[in-house]
Amino acid sequence: MTNLQESIRRILREETNSKHEGLLNIIQEDGLYNFTKDTGLSYNDIYHRIGELPREVKIQYLKDVINDLEQTPGELDLTFITGSIPLYENDDWQMVYVEYLNNEDNVLRVNLTTFIDDNRDEYDSIHEDDIDYETLETLVTELSEKLQYKKLIMNLQESIRRILREETQGIDNFLDEISNTHPMSDELKSFVKQFIEESECKRIDFSNFKIGVLGLALESGVLINSITIRRPLPYLLFVIFHEVAHQYQFKKYGVDVMYGCYLGDITEREGAEFMKQTEEVADEFAARKIRQLQKMGLIEPFTPPQMYKNIPIQQITMMVNNYRNDMRRKNIDSQEKVSEYFYNMVKSEL
Ligand SMILES: [Zn+2]
Repeated sequence: MTNLQESIRRILREETNSKHEGLLNIIQEDGLYNFTKDTGLSYNDIYHRIGELPREVKIQYLKDVINDLEQTPGELDLTFITGSIPLYENDDWQMVYVEYLNNEDNVLRVNLTTFIDDNRDEYDSIHEDDIDYETLETLVTELSEKLQYKKLIMNLQESIRRILREETQGIDNFLDEISNTHPMSDELKSFVKQFIEESECKRIDFSNFKIGVLGLALESGVLINSITIRRPLPYLLFVIFHEVAHQYQFKKYGVDVMYGCYLGDITEREGAEFMKQTEEVADEFAARKIRQLQKMGLIEPFTPPQMYKNIPIQQITMMVNNYRNDMRRKNIDSQEKVSEYFYNMVKSEL
């Protein structure tokens, strides 16, 4: 081989290496998750281009995925969004779901459920330091593929929605009413708008209420008590996010489940427990959105209240019981009638 050939090859090799290094630097800085989102590349694409990624990049990827997906209420469990991730080990198969057990310390834990033949399950929870190479590799690959697939489906749904013009009725009016009292940046406005629309909320309005609640979330849409407009903006947004979180729950569980405590064949206690849980999740979810807006510098500091955490289950059971009896008396036996019942209960004609 001539010297010239050799130098050319070396230069090419170095160039390739430095290109890879450049990419790797970007991935290490932005995180693999953001990188895949920005470029549309899958983990496999990246692997083929630059080879093995450092372990901490993969661990961080899982954390970023979880953090991002946590923004959707009730979807804390990765299996819900991504489906279970099968891992094969000793002829048993395992379902995996991943969670942070300790958000404060930023530690990742992977929970594994192994289904054994005789209907026994075994659970195992692995600290991030103890996740073996194969498991980590499978998690990152599978998640990356599933997220890409999900994005494809979401884009498709988004186009279909746009074609069908299934937008939230009243949303522009609603945002104008807020802006009339609270100046909002365009960024904040579009954040709120997008969040409401993605919940597939059918309609949203301010309204005068005749009872002392701040908002109402029904299958037919969301009503927010007009008195909340005069409260500070972060508080108002918290109330809106809480109610819209219920719309995400309608989308996730379906109206049968959401109205199950009134129409379903479950005990009052079960109905109450479900209601308490959906309320607590809605509170948590709204609080997370508020923190996100604060981090983005779009709203003033505000500590979200936990409205439902301290209400005893007996009190909620009693409430469910009262509603059920009243609905029975009034022949409320369909989903439409339940919506109408609550709508008429809160909405003032004045
Ligand atoms: Zn609620």
